Amino acid sequence: MTVQVPFDNTFAQLGPGFYRKQMPEPVVAPQLVAFNQDLARLLQVAPAEVSEMAEVFAGNRMLEGAEPLAQTYAGHQFGTFNPQLGDGRALLLGEVLGQDGRRYDIQLKGSGRTPFSRQGDGRAWLGPVLREYVISEAMHALGVPTTRALAAVTTGETVWREGGMPGAVLTRVAASHLRVGTFQLFAAHGRTAELKQLTDYAIARHYPQAEGPLGLLRSVRDAQVGLIAAWMSVGFIHGVMNTDNCSISGETIDYGPCAFMDTYRAEQVFSSIDRTGRYAYANQPSIAVWNLAQLATALIQQLDDPQEAVEEATAIIHAMPSLIEAEWLRLFRRKLGLLSMESGDLDLVSDLLQLMAEGQADFTNTFCALSEGRAAGEFQDPAAFQSWQQRWMQRRAEEPDPEAVMRASNPVYIPRNHRIEEMIAAAVSGDFTMFHRLNTVLASPYLRQPDQDDLLRPPMPDEVVKATFCGT
Ligand code: AMP
Ligand code: MG
Repeated sequence: MTVQVPFDNTFAQLGPGFYRKQMPEPVVAPQLVAFNQDLARLLQVAPAEVSEMAEVFAGNRMLEGAEPLAQTYAGHQFGTFNPQLGDGRALLLGEVLGQDGRRYDIQLKGSGRTPFSRQGDGRAWLGPVLREYVISEAMHALGVPTTRALAAVTTGETVWREGGMPGAVLTRVAASHLRVGTFQLFAAHGRTAELKQLTDYAIARHYPQAEGPLGLLRSVRDAQVGLIAAWMSVGFIHGVMNTDNCSISGETIDYGPCAFMDTYRAEQVFSSIDRTGRYAYANQPSIAVWNLAQLATALIQQLDDPQEAVEEATAIIHAMPSLIEAEWLRLFRRKLGLLSMESGDLDLVSDLLQLMAEGQADFTNTFCALSEGRAAGEFQDPAAFQSWQQRWMQRRAEEPDPEAVMRASNPVYIPRNHRIEEMIAAAVSGDFTMFHRLNTVLASPYLRQPDQDDLLRPPMPDEVVKATFCGT
């Protein structure tokens, strides 16, 4: 019995300007590390024997109906435009229709060189593959729009990074892999016919109610508004918000040097390559606006009356900061148990965050502790917190069931960096216990689970992860 995937491919029909056909490079000794049964069911993917699945998800055996291809795109990387990027180590196998009626891309990541690999080896090592697996599935369980992980395999080969590392391949699932950078590619090269074709395709696939390029722009904006506010509400820092990592569908995509904050710090950066703090926690809303402006610049190049379009596009972009702030406030209000809206709420939330920054409070644990009336313990100087708490108690008194709202809005468990690092170190030496344990606990992040208290503990000083590295 082989793995059965009911492919139904549409991207491959767009034409050769959108991709290069490419087969994966086989690996010597694939072994299955993880297979996501729940996601497989949703995708109507029928599993098979473990050895067979290892071959399939390493790219050694091609599935019937798959049309492997490397997508082409461009993108702004740390603000600098690169007119030609593309999947350098990923291959889209094709699409399936899920049980939910939605269309999903299935992609191998780390499957070998492509025409877009440049100097890269087309490979991934086990660390980033397991990192993406755990964090993307955790994000899904937290309710944040995200790509997902269907499978992880080790290749039996060595990948050379700082030293020799075990090679691995991740099978990633996404609503699509269309990015802002996909549009930028055709705009930058004056390929208007393909730009139009891509616009129509993106509308049909993601936003069928949207009208024309500006309708698409507005829909992408609204999806990004929800995404960025959700990141902020769980303390997530993406780390590389380049336009080629900004999804048209509004999902979190490309788990490289991303991380969840422990101690609250607005200017927190983890990525070792982000030297100026461009993608710091608190900068994420303004970077999302900047990225949308790049999408607008690309989209309007297909319009007959660009001047009129510029005005409308500008209005769409200018509305974005206040839309993010409103959604951000709605989510943070919920984190405080507040469903109703009052004029003092923004100050209430901002003052708490200020106190958390001053008191070096743990972001996740403080919000959890608030609902249990023991938050003072999270602050270095509990006295400063007391008067804020009185204001909050008064405000809360008008709410019907603040505890229930808080329980549903404040995760108990997040994938903390020091646990991720610990998990990777163990996996490299062949022990996947922590990997499986993290997946199990993080599948129900809002639920306190017996015997898992070590996973909610912030890092000890010697466990703090100061920098995360690109997943290359
Ligand atoms: P990322 O920072 O992961 O979004 O990657 C930026 C670009 O570099 C993408 O086009 C990747 O496909 C490509 N890339 C990253 N790592 C590798 C690698 N090891 N081999 C080839 N291409 C890579
Ligand atoms: Mg990328």
